[in-house]
Amino acid sequence: MSTQSLHPAISLTDLVYRYRSSDEQVVNIPRFSLKKGEQILLTGASGSGKSTLLHLLSGLMNPESGSIEIQGTAINQLRGSKRDRFRGAHIGMIFQTYQLLHGFSARENILAALMFSDLPRSTHNARALSLLKVLGINKPNQLVEEMSVGQQQRVAVARAVACSPTVVLADEPTAALDPDHAQGAMDLLQEACRSIDAALICVSHDHSLCPRFDRHQSLDELNSPNSPNSSHHGSEAKHGHD
Ligand code: ADP
Ligand code: MG
Repeated sequence: MSTQSLHPAISLTDLVYRYRSSDEQVVNIPRFSLKKGEQILLTGASGSGKSTLLHLLSGLMNPESGSIEIQGTAINQLRGSKRDRFRGAHIGMIFQTYQLLHGFSARENILAALMFSDLPRSTHNARALSLLKVLGINKPNQLVEEMSVGQQQRVAVARAVACSPTVVLADEPTAALDPDHAQGAMDLLQEACRSIDAALICVSHDHSLCPRFDRHQSLDELNSPNSPNSSHHGSEAKHGHD
């Protein structure tokens, strides 16, 4: 416990990835780290590598080279079910289209995530219900596919934070929402992460989210070394893509 807390929530070194079919490095990040509880927005145009990066960070894909540590654990060195269990317990994920388990209720979706938690089994149902309540889901037994997109987004937030993960990764979490609902959804996501002191990496093409984050950076800045924008750290300016 004590040594774990000395590590950043997430730490990347010389992370490189390219798809097999292409010569181009989609990801090339020399160095990046995020502290426990810190929240960052990474912006980038469509095709800039946002989803690829989140798949690497969650251990769903392996990098070509470099290291990814989640609170000191090199996720790529974990194999098979060990990696799956580590992900389930330490990483909360919110996908662009939420990817909830259809055919199951909101409550059951949270219970499925809680299978990875250290909490005693007997407490899972109460935790699922209270999380859903906090996030404004009044019908926990409704099937997720019968919920509105906005409600599904809130179930996805509840699922991502259920195990009190070290880090939450959110892939364009507001892309499917209208602007009014998008603001409320971001409030809930950021507040939920604060309440469990989880670090948050949110990726989006939407620069209007920048003021919500103490840290925001474009993927162009993060990627090195010959990016034209690599010196503009912390800038929220648009970089001419889109
Ligand atoms: P973003 O999420 O920012 O829109 P992606 O990470 O999905 O970007 O994609 C980054 C780049 O990698 C794009 O150029 C895309 O065409 C390419 N790419 C994505 N998935 C694959 C794949 N499975 N095979 C080959 N290239 C891919
Ligand atoms: Mg994407």
